[in-house]
Amino acid sequence: MTAALEVSGLAHAYDGALAVRNVSLTVQPGEIVALLGANGAGKSTTVGMIAGVLRPRRGTIHFDGRDLTGEPSHAVVRSGITLVPEGRLVFPRMTVMENLQLGAHSRQRTHIPALIGRAFSLFPRLADRRGQLAGSMSGGEQQMLAIARGLMAEPKLIILDEPSLGLMPLVTRELFRLIEAVNSGGISVLLVEQNLHQSLRIANRAYVLEKGEVVMTGSGKELLTNEYVRKAFLGR
Ligand code: ATP
Repeated sequence: MTAALEVSGLAHAYDGALAVRNVSLTVQPGEIVALLGANGAGKSTTVGMIAGVLRPRRGTIHFDGRDLTGEPSHAVVRSGITLVPEGRLVFPRMTVMENLQLGAHSRQRTHIPALIGRAFSLFPRLADRRGQLAGSMSGGEQQMLAIARGLMAEPKLIILDEPSLGLMPLVTRELFRLIEAVNSGGISVLLVEQNLHQSLRIANRAYVLEKGEVVMTGSGKELLTNEYVRKAFLGR
């Protein structure tokens, strides 16, 4: 079977300094794949290249058999990949409903009510707050809205960059359950996280990045019990 996403030998430099040296990874249809690593390991830079926000210096990106290397972000979205960037960038002075509608700008107008219905059934909390200004909601609710807005583009693969950043453990657990629910609906997930423990629990497979390179890969279970990962990232 063709891998839904196939990334090979990616590299990117900021002002001549290599932030990503050599990253290869795949996400098969229906998988949750975690991309893990410490601060500055190159995770956001990697997904920025996949989403067409940053241009790779080297390497290739294929999705569903199409070459997306160097394509702009709107072409990447059209091919079925949506990035929910770090920092839950919702529009704070717009309502939940308006934020969702903006997420559907690439879709046909007649299709939008059904997409909003799907978002509300996945995230009932957002349905209750549909008229509320996004900026007045809690961090966890804003993150749910950011993901729901990403889903409005009807992606086959959604990339989530550190969705748990700044959230309380209880909220993070709920968020991860929602990510599993999104995935159960047939959407592949590439999950960028520093929260190794919870991501490895829900991930089919994971890649660990260090200094812009993949240093380890395996199933979620394998990495959860891996001595090196435990010592380096879980502190035990
Ligand atoms: P974080 O969890 O902090 O987001 P990360 O693993 O996502 O970390 P990146 O954000 O990809 O890592 O950063 C990789 C390296 O590139 C870091 O050394 C970072 O300082 C550098 N870097 C990131 N963005 C820029 C930029 N716009 N200009 C210059 N250097 C950058």
